[in-house]
Amino acid sequence: MTLIALTEAHKYYGDYHALRGIDLEVRAGEFFSLLGPSGCGKTTLLRCIAGFEGLSSGTLSIDGKDMRRVPPERRPTNMVFQSYAVFPHLTVAENVAFGLRKRSDLDRSGKRRLVDEALEMVGLAGYGARASHELSGGQRQRVALARALILRPKVLLLDEPLSALDRKMRETMQEELRGLQRHVGITFILVTHDQEEALIMSDRVAVMFEGSIAQLASPQQLYDRPATRQVASFIGQMTFLPAKAASGRIEVGGLGTCAEDTVRMPGGAVEGEAVAGLRPEALTILGAEDAANGLQVAEGRIADRAYFGDMTYYYVDLPGGGPKHLLVSMKNIPGREVLDVGANARIGWDPRALIVFGA
Ligand code: ATP
Repeated sequence: MTLIALTEAHKYYGDYHALRGIDLEVRAGEFFSLLGPSGCGKTTLLRCIAGFEGLSSGTLSIDGKDMRRVPPERRPTNMVFQSYAVFPHLTVAENVAFGLRKRSDLDRSGKRRLVDEALEMVGLAGYGARASHELSGGQRQRVALARALILRPKVLLLDEPLSALDRKMRETMQEELRGLQRHVGITFILVTHDQEEALIMSDRVAVMFEGSIAQLASPQQLYDRPATRQVASFIGQMTFLPAKAASGRIEVGGLGTCAEDTVRMPGGAVEGEAVAGLRPEALTILGAEDAANGLQVAEGRIADRAYFGDMTYYYVDLPGGGPKHLLVSMKNIPGREVLDVGANARIGWDPRALIVFGA
């Protein structure tokens, strides 16, 4: 069921065209992310949904109601900001209860019950009497979440809520946020510039560039079938090689040729000059004794490598492959040696993993 619908939404700040014709439907109960580089308009879009900004043209409805004249406090949305916005002079419980200040229908014990429930939800049961300034960054973000959730909004809007946390804490909170969303069933819309975060947490992701949505899809579709080269290089890593499509075959610079009907062309059919993309994990370096196992084989040379503990990334030169290295990732499993720079590398590649775009 569609909960939020935007059609032909534009937003101007003076002459600056920040949102350029957004058409978007967010479903009830989904974890939805707006992902894109800094300045692409994702915060603007979130603020328009919240009502802190008005659209210059186009429509926005939430739960079937036109939002044009509805102020933020009367929308069924609530926002969690990057800076935690927790009041340091109030206790944890007072901070959370702040979300209830307009609920005159509740008496003190009713409010306390809701505060306790909200704290329990975010893993802070028993923290109510704590002074807020004594909390860690992660705990403060949980307080902000509890305060936003206590009113049970239909939509929770999250603007880079985890970006101020250190990496470990961020990973923990990503898992918890996802679990919390499943538990409460409220629609979450997350703004992030971190593609990994968007992929891990979301049911669907809208990738934005320069005020427009380039692709709206599930994380797996975005990764496996990116609609454009820009999306392909923003989501994960990909090496692009010059290619040519002719007479039902694709020739990929430095790698060889394959049948056109085995490759993916998510942006539409391609003929003539093309660009072929390969993810590092879709390639393998075969040992001298290894059978190709149906893979196509190309010869290269290791130009450089980066060791990550669990993985090694190799930068491989292909004969006639041009100035770009082919990026290959290999798991460091027992019995597999890390290869030296300068060594020859037999590259195995699967045409089914090739993603071909028009040049
Ligand atoms: P970031 O991740 O850096 O916050 P973003 O994708 O969320 O980026 P927005 O904050 O939506 O981007 O901004 C989109 C563009 O609109 C930017 O170029 C920004 O400078 C501009 N912009 C945002 N708010 C205003 C404003 N109030 N007045 C004028 N320009 C603005």
